[in-house]
Amino acid sequence: MTRVFLFLAWAAAVGAGDRPLVIAHRGASGYLPEHSAAAKAYAYAQGADYLEQDLVLTKDGVPVVVHDIYVDTVTDVAEKFPGRARGDGRYYVLDFTVGEIKQLQVRERFQVGSGAAVYPGRFPSRGFPGAFQVATLEEELQLIQGLNRSTGRDVGIYPEIKQPKWHREQGVDLSAAVLPILARYGYQGKGDRCFLQCFELAEVRRLRRELGWKGRMILLMGGAGKEVDGTDWEELCTLEGLRGLADVVEGIGPPLERVVQWPVEGGGAQLTGLAARAHQVGLAVHPWSVRVDALPKHCPSVEALHAALLGEAGVEGVFTDFTDVTRQWLERAAAVRR
Ligand code: CA
Repeated sequence: MTRVFLFLAWAAAVGAGDRPLVIAHRGASGYLPEHSAAAKAYAYAQGADYLEQDLVLTKDGVPVVVHDIYVDTVTDVAEKFPGRARGDGRYYVLDFTVGEIKQLQVRERFQVGSGAAVYPGRFPSRGFPGAFQVATLEEELQLIQGLNRSTGRDVGIYPEIKQPKWHREQGVDLSAAVLPILARYGYQGKGDRCFLQCFELAEVRRLRRELGWKGRMILLMGGAGKEVDGTDWEELCTLEGLRGLADVVEGIGPPLERVVQWPVEGGGAQLTGLAARAHQVGLAVHPWSVRVDALPKHCPSVEALHAALLGEAGVEGVFTDFTDVTRQWLERAAAVRR
């Protein structure tokens, strides 16, 4: 009964044809190694509206699709290029040419020390070497646009400028390398199927004011007590903070717990009020990330999570490792509405 009510509340909150966006977080990462072409094609086939790309620069200045500035938690780099780690023991994408990066085998995410899988129930990270590779941004755009051509769909892209301040400290400019590629593939205005995303407010402002990005943009937010590049998300989550953001970005990308929490075991969902405040100043809310195998603390089920986010909080989109599960929830909700 509660669920039906939540579906109805959701239906009232969004008009027909205006349903929340399903954003495939690193592709269908619940089923295949994150950011592999296979994971992207699978998420596409499962009905994603947008596919996410995390972007990092190689030594020869090519944006590639990898979640971190490190490449040692998702590939066999330590085996293929022993001795190429920095003093901290980590292998950085920026220390390898794109030719070298393409030699790496992409695996399901594992712990850098022990080699244990981060999500043990997912695609095996050992013993299934497969044929997964790191994609360049251009290769991925070609995959998505090729699928758009062959299917007649219009699935969008959701590129993230990863640690731009760190890149600049290393003497390179990630944003300046990415924008011309996006433009060349037709992503440059607000009407194009693209959301550019970044955690760093200084870079988001720079993208708008210095680099002239005219497309849509989302400021990502970290969890409570975390900070990147001096960006104070607590301050930005206030009504005043959000009002200031609305001049620069179309929306925010907060972690789930900034939108909804389950304070006690067996209790109900409690909205934090962030989504309502963002909506008050016209900002969209795209929280991250739905994981069937890693639900928020005390959250009883993935259905309850979807109902809280897409129903009660009325967010405009959600990052999900499980495109199919999120799509199915939305379809059931739409059926109730009809
Ligand atoms: Ca990301």
